[in-house]
Amino acid sequence: MTLAYLGLGANLGDARQTLKDAVVCLAQHSGLTVVAKSGFYRSAPVDAGGDDYMNAVVAIETSLAAARLLALCLAIEHHFGRERPFRNAPRTLDLDILLYGDDIIDTADLCVPHPRMTQRAFVLVPLVEVSPDIVIPGLGRAADFVAAVSDQRIERVDLGQCRIPNRVPSS
Ligand code: AMP
Repeated sequence: MTLAYLGLGANLGDARQTLKDAVVCLAQHSGLTVVAKSGFYRSAPVDAGGDDYMNAVVAIETSLAAARLLALCLAIEHHFGRERPFRNAPRTLDLDILLYGDDIIDTADLCVPHPRMTQRAFVLVPLVEVSPDIVIPGLGRAADFVAAVSDQRIERVDLGQCRIPNRVPSS
């Protein structure tokens, strides 16, 4: 089993509902268990126009190989109507593999740790919420990158309770 972290984002349609439904969709897959999820965050688009994004991060335990996990993410994006009319276009759902255990993957289809994750508050802030001491392989503690992105607008919008813990349980 591998502990992996996925970033979710949406800024078209009912973004918050889509993120909720996408987590349910992930949780229903036999190859993974959702072990923690962050709250929802509203963030300003980075390198893109359009409406504000809704973002979250989930931690999963998975038996899927990284390539299979990517295929699942793309299938779920497709299920929620994801289209790619141009680069960084507004999206109904974006699912990124942020971390896959301690693996460093650099293939044509998949780069893990996600290449831009240290530059994005909408990734770092929810990631550190679910796993405050998480280390990005080859780069260091995620929390240490947060100060450098403090100019990016982000606010937590859901302080309600959730059934899935919002911290990775200690093993
Ligand atoms: P995007 O259109 O920004 O959602 O990019 C999706 C494409 O990025 C996928 O088809 C993947 O081949 C590629 N990709 C590379 N690394 C990752 C990653 N860590 N997570 C998700 N997609 C990735």
